[in-house]
Amino acid sequence: IAAELAYFFRGQARKNIKLLTLYCSFLAGLVIMYAWLFRVLMWELEGREYSFITGIYWTITAMSTLGYGDITFSSDPGFLFSAIVTLSGVVFMLILLPFGMISLFLAPWIEQRLRYRATLELPEDTAGHVLIFGFDSVTRALSRNLQNRHIPFVIVSPSHDQAVRLEEEGFRVVFGTPTDAKSLRGARVENARHIIANLSDPENTNLCLTAHAMCTTPIATLVSEPDNRDLLRLAGADQAIPLKRILGHYLASRATTRGAQAHIIDSFGALQIAEIPVQATPFSGQSLSDAKIRQSTGLAVIGLWERGHFTTPHADTHLSPKALMVLAGTREQLQALEQITGEEEAEDRILILGHGRIGCAAAGFLEQRAVPFILIDREANVDCLDHVAVIGDATSSKVLNDSGIESAKGLIVTTNDDSTNIFLTLASRHINPDIRIVARANQEENVDQLYAAGADFVVSNASVGANILSNILEGKESIFLTEGINVFRRSLPPTLVGKSINDSRIRPLSGCSIVALERADGQPPLVVPPPETILEQGMGLILIGNPEQEKTFSRTFRDRRH
Ligand code: ADP
Ligand code: ZN
Repeated sequence: IAAELAYFFRGQARKNIKLLTLYCSFLAGLVIMYAWLFRVLMWELEGREYSFITGIYWTITAMSTLGYGDITFSSDPGFLFSAIVTLSGVVFMLILLPFGMISLFLAPWIEQRLRYRATLELPEDTAGHVLIFGFDSVTRALSRNLQNRHIPFVIVSPSHDQAVRLEEEGFRVVFGTPTDAKSLRGARVENARHIIANLSDPENTNLCLTAHAMCTTPIATLVSEPDNRDLLRLAGADQAIPLKRILGHYLASRATTRGAQAHIIDSFGALQIAEIPVQATPFSGQSLSDAKIRQSTGLAVIGLWERGHFTTPHADTHLSPKALMVLAGTREQLQALEQITGEEEAEDRILILGHGRIGCAAAGFLEQRAVPFILIDREANVDCLDHVAVIGDATSSKVLNDSGIESAKGLIVTTNDDSTNIFLTLASRHINPDIRIVARANQEENVDQLYAAGADFVVSNASVGANILSNILEGKESIFLTEGINVFRRSLPPTLVGKSINDSRIRPLSGCSIVALERADGQPPLVVPPPETILEQGMGLILIGNPEQEKTFSRTFRDRRH
């Protein structure tokens, strides 16, 4: 009730209350004027004297058309006056007042009641939609991807307030408990194209069990504890994505300069995609053609990252020590690079600020590759039995200095608070201008600020998560490099069999470049094959391009996903 009452003291309703007060004062004024006239006329016309209170009493009974008739005029001018009073009462009190009350208060109130009631059920014929359970920065970024691709989606929210808020933002929302079969039916789960479960691990498990029992709609779920993946699959999830672990690995692989193989971010069979700091190689300062990376290792440089910008390199691109090279090649080729790189850079030491799940995964990644690291956290991580962290607030310069920030080679900033991350990036950059800083952005809008604060690389939880999910939804096997650039696999279109790469005109027709050719007979993939290479039956193409180019490729060569 308090909330309902509060409605009348907000926004438009408040202005309307002022209007009503004004109108009532006008009515009161009218009554007083008539009462005074009544007294004057009674005295002047009929010689009768009445009190002012009697005047008010008479005016009100006349205006409200009650007309007791106990006090009446007996002359024509008096009758005329009575008629005017009664008529103005009808207009001002019986018509305008109720009309104003209804249109200014009752109608807007009813309207707002109707508008602010969350949807409990989608129309019965709803189909082909993606159902999103759990709305946070990851699924918000996903919803943006889906909007761009014109894929319909519906968010299921257990909170009425959130449901109403999201609906106001223009999203389609169903209000209901995600683990309740009734709300799942209301969300038309059986007709949905995919379910995205983004709740806690136990809730996701529960949701998978409930949904799996009702329909065969595929379910993709995020898991925060990688050990729970099997449980979620058992419960009916088709994909269980350990997002926090992936993020931890992303951060760690970009922070260390050790060994080329430590930087593998993903793979297509034997073809590995690795991101390695130029600093960790002997090529820093050279142009791409002078570096002769292809000739000496067989690896192809398919991209360069510098402070958040991804570029496709040309022969004369300068390899800045701050940049990160994206390499494609086999494990053997990466080993060859490691041989050239040598062990001079082995003196790697990395500080990890924040020992949550992501920080812990980063530590695990470094541990496996024998890179020394120090974890710093305000509190002990009770879920982790593998690492011992320095307990202290990383925002204190004493804690940072005592942990050796001045001599560390790399820094991973991974607290759950972006302001803290920005502060830590800035402070560490100030103390150690040469350190490689890899920072985590919990909210996408803070990515730029982290770069501005001095980060060399920023990993955005939301965009990584959203891209993994989008790829799953589109049934794509692809590696996400950055917004707009994917590495993806296609089987060789039959029309191209027997042609050389040059004659296939893949690049001029679609804009996609061939990263590698997979060969059928278990031979290692051909990395960035020369243009005269003949495309043979059974080969797989691994291409790089943006979604637009990818679509053009599919249209032009009309392939079927293998
Ligand atoms: P996630 O699991 O996503 O990594 P968490 O909230 O579990 O997120 O992890 C963030 C970690 O960062 C927590 O362990 C928290 O104690 C730590 N943290 C936050 N602020 C600071 C700080 N100023 N100094 C040190 N550690 C911090
Ligand atoms: Zn740990």
